[in-house]
Amino acid sequence: MMKLTDRDYMTLALQMARATAGQTSPNPMVGAVVVNEGAIVGIGAHLKAGEPHAEVHALRMAGERAKGATIYVTLEPCSHYGRTPPCAIAIREAGIARVVIAAQDPNPLVAGRGISMLREAGIEVDTGVLAAEAEKLNEIFFHFVQTRKPFVTIKTASTLDGKIATVAGHSKWITGKEARQQVHKLRQQSDAILVGVNTVLADDPALTARIDDQETKRQPVRIILDSSLRIPPNARVLTDRLAETWIYTTERSSPEKRAALEQMGAKVLVMEGTASVPIGGLLTSLGERGITSLLVEGGSAVNGSFLQARAINKIVSYFSCKLVGGADAPTPFGGSGLAVMNQAVELKGIRMEQISPTDFCIEGYPDW
Ligand code: NDP
Ligand code: ZN
Repeated sequence: MMKLTDRDYMTLALQMARATAGQTSPNPMVGAVVVNEGAIVGIGAHLKAGEPHAEVHALRMAGERAKGATIYVTLEPCSHYGRTPPCAIAIREAGIARVVIAAQDPNPLVAGRGISMLREAGIEVDTGVLAAEAEKLNEIFFHFVQTRKPFVTIKTASTLDGKIATVAGHSKWITGKEARQQVHKLRQQSDAILVGVNTVLADDPALTARIDDQETKRQPVRIILDSSLRIPPNARVLTDRLAETWIYTTERSSPEKRAALEQMGAKVLVMEGTASVPIGGLLTSLGERGITSLLVEGGSAVNGSFLQARAINKIVSYFSCKLVGGADAPTPFGGSGLAVMNQAVELKGIRMEQISPTDFCIEGYPDW
């Protein structure tokens, strides 16, 4: 029989963690595998906040066979009493001899504590196996823990000539159904999804996550930036009751309209001392309300504001190989723009995928 390596077992643990995408927020995705003398004796993943951590599931499955075994975990085992007792203690009590860890705990206040607890108990600890993969998998969690602000992904869909709508403001649909299905997955994995009020006025979108035309069980909060409350009362996001809707506005909006919207079930948040909703203040407010990931779907003005505020962590851009032209047709990023090319924001960690015969996706991380 071929001998499997630490990387092989960690790959399995990462796969289990990855399979829980969209169901663990605000917690990270974590997987664990227990191996005793070359045999897998326990596997587990953290399925949902409030439920046991991955290590606990895997150790329970292993039972007595955890004695003298190695446990592979995608994230440093916890060392604090939260809703469940620390996994570092569970590992010690199960009699594990060796712990292999992919990524360290990103919380600067607790990083390394789980590892030192294990080492103090005489357990051998190896770290850094597939660390980059593990950090990318939990990029949202890592960002939120370190900044207390949501991880911002901007998704755009453009024609090959770089337009997000026609000169008449028509935008349904630019990409085909395969790409749109991916966007619904992205929505389902986000805590919140955001647009500007002009997009509500132009498209009246539902902004829900739908897989095979069915609303998914967990829905992102819908966030609308609307300084003077121009949103019409018959907008779908106000009437369909399929997900929460939060409207960020300013003192320019009328208290009567705010009350009417709240009556309809929306949450209205008033930002003070500004003419339009400030992006920095918005992100702080969302973080305080437990939003760890934000998917921004435009339009042009809103995307431009996020660019100007340098508040973008990831870009996911879809391109459909069709042309609509028009000097006045909107592009993905409006606003005032930059004057010289050597100030352009470059992306790193680029990934490109062909989604269908006509559609492509390019994603990357702005290098601020
Ligand atoms: P937006 O949807 O970006 O809305 C902009 C409006 O939001 C502003 O005019 C402003 O109105 C309000 N707002 C409040 N705070 C801010 C802020 N900080 N920054 C920016 N805006 C803020 O409008 P656009 O007209 O640029 O884009 C709409 C078009 O884009 C539509 O035609 C739509 O079809 C298309 N679209 C295409 C998408 C695609 O991926 N292909 C995705 C989304 C839209 P106020 O001052 O009244 O608050
Ligand atoms: Zn734990």
